[in-house]
Amino acid sequence: MKSQKFIDVTEKYGAQNYKPIPVVISHAKGVWVWDADGKKYIDMLSSYSALNQGHLHPAIIKAVKQQLGRVTLTSRAFYNDRIGEFFKAVTGACKMDKVLPMNSGAEAVETAIKLARKWGHTVKGIPENSAEIICCKDNFHGRTTTVISFSTEPQYRAGFGPFTPGFKIIEYGNAEDLEKAITPNTAAFLVEPIQGEAGIVMPPAGYLRKTREICSAHNVLFIADEIQTGFGRTGKLFCCEHEGVKPDVLIIGKALGGGIMPVSGVLSSAEIMSVFKPGDHGSTFGGNPLACAVGIAAINVLIKEKLVQNSAKMGAYFINELKKLQSPIVKDIRGKGLFIGVEIKKECGTARKYCEQLMHLGVLSKETHDQVIRFAPPLNIKKQEIDWALERIKSILINN
Ligand SMILES: *Cc1c(COP(=O)(O)O)cnc(C)c1O
Repeated sequence: MKSQKFIDVTEKYGAQNYKPIPVVISHAKGVWVWDADGKKYIDMLSSYSALNQGHLHPAIIKAVKQQLGRVTLTSRAFYNDRIGEFFKAVTGACKMDKVLPMNSGAEAVETAIKLARKWGHTVKGIPENSAEIICCKDNFHGRTTTVISFSTEPQYRAGFGPFTPGFKIIEYGNAEDLEKAITPNTAAFLVEPIQGEAGIVMPPAGYLRKTREICSAHNVLFIADEIQTGFGRTGKLFCCEHEGVKPDVLIIGKALGGGIMPVSGVLSSAEIMSVFKPGDHGSTFGGNPLACAVGIAAINVLIKEKLVQNSAKMGAYFINELKKLQSPIVKDIRGKGLFIGVEIKKECGTARKYCEQLMHLGVLSKETHDQVIRFAPPLNIKKQEIDWALERIKSILINN
């Protein structure tokens, strides 16, 4: 068992801020991964939707290799010959005028907060240092000090204060709550179209549309965090499209990196983005030529291979088959596209237990919060691969 050795050295020298499922991945292809002992698994987590194109997608690898032979980093002190093409591809796909590139998702959320605040102070006329941003209960937007300042998950905050002020929390899924919370100092409403980390929590139909309308009526920016729900995960390119909603500010990340490296960004109209002046904000690695090459390839693969459509089709099939199982231990099955949560009844133990059992059968998934197993495979998964997983999922959900 080589795997145990790798686990031991990891635990010995690494900070223990994670509790991984005990599998050691040593190579991968498409929807499949192999552990250090050669056992094969299907990846039903896709690194929290950062692998929508699958592992080592040949077109993305080719783009990386080509770029590695030319130049990888310039900083934004200079232009490079990939960044403009990347900006064009990403604004085109997102149907937005302008983009500001960053690396991790949390950085992009921070960027959107700065954008909304500066817009609030300089355009909306909110008195300096008093812009408010409204967020939802059970949100997940990342792990930086400012972002955890509006988390409602006690563990994400405990011991990490003092926190950044300027955030208000409302109930997720209740549009009236938003209307009540808005004041003349409200700059923005920040929302996940489906709350992924909270357990694939879907707001009632019409919620995004209604909150979008409320924001427009009160001159409040509607900021959609589509870091996890974007790029086809829910069966549309962006989840907001399910309700015909166009955000003022769109935050993207994860799958934009094509499973290779962190690539994130914030998009908006030219007017909103124009509040950023040279020197206001930046990132050494943001928009580096290698990341741009990856981002372009990642978007091209999604579009050319119709992964959004496949997500819708395979997701509907997968959810339907899961529901047919009629498992006695399951409380709820929900999702859109290939973004699926299976909620385990409390009296049947936590989701973690079932994720570990699934791992032993060759299906990799991860619990989110205590009771939900998340199934979010790469978007190019085929029906027979879903069937392979379903056979194993069935034996866990039915025979337990
Ligand atoms: C993953 C995620 C983030 C944070 O992204 P990182 O790259 O981990 O910093 C923010 N918002 C949502 C909705 C996410 O799923």
